[in-house]
Amino acid sequence: MAEVIVASEAGACFGVERALDLVRTTAREACGPVHTLGPLIHNPIVVDELAALGVTAVNDPSEVGEGSTLVLRTHGVAPSVERAAVDAGATVVDATCPFVKRAHRAAERLAGEGYQLLILGEEGHPEVEGIVGHAPEAIVVSGAADLAGIELRRRVGVVVQTTQSKANLRSLVSELVGRVDELRVLDTICEATAGHQGACAELAKTVDVMVVVGGKNSANTTRLAEIAAAICPHTHHVETPQELCSDWFANAERIGITAGASTPAAHIEAIKDAICGMARG
Ligand code: SF4
Repeated sequence: MAEVIVASEAGACFGVERALDLVRTTAREACGPVHTLGPLIHNPIVVDELAALGVTAVNDPSEVGEGSTLVLRTHGVAPSVERAAVDAGATVVDATCPFVKRAHRAAERLAGEGYQLLILGEEGHPEVEGIVGHAPEAIVVSGAADLAGIELRRRVGVVVQTTQSKANLRSLVSELVGRVDELRVLDTICEATAGHQGACAELAKTVDVMVVVGGKNSANTTRLAEIAAAICPHTHHVETPQELCSDWFANAERIGITAGASTPAAHIEAIKDAICGMARG
């Protein structure tokens, strides 16, 4: 029978657990309607669970009314967004992950010290938009290749979306070295991201099949799937046990599982149980 192994670091991180606690407590205690600004985390199953508690997502602070409560999600927001919610009469509960807050402060600091600020991240991702909101002159780059179209100044600062890979940061930094007089890098990749990615790569080296669990729209889960696929060609990214296919495991002796930072432990267990059932059958 195949061995099924869960990565040593996988699944819901400190920031997501903290945000879920905050929103559940708020749903219990608030008198008026409770909203999140966008889905609280990129995990459709969790979003459905919150909907059952009466928590609904809005896309813009202008959608919330007087007396309602708006929970800011782990990704964080620009200061202007928080002000708009307060102006609309809402009580704001800030569930921004402290690691994302650290990226906000890093961006403010480097921009304030006069560096040309580069944010290494995905253009348009809510976390990146929030960081840009704290340093509006910043330029977003997805990797070293994007530097081609940028006129670099003498002093350049770099801040990183928390879910980027260390490899992408290293490649950007090595491209910048020698092209600027002064380079200041504040590595704001979060510990959970680095730990998940390292454990994922280690496990992927030792298994025949990797299964990555988490929202298809989750940046950190997608990154795990990319890291695993680069090492183990038989990598599959799923959100639910129903997406698993027994053919994937037909000749596998070792099957690895990892999960994004927005995936609760119960979802990982459900996937593991389903895989064990298929591998037995
Ligand atoms: S992945 Fe990191 S930055 Fe994102 S919520 Fe989790 S702990 Fe915070």
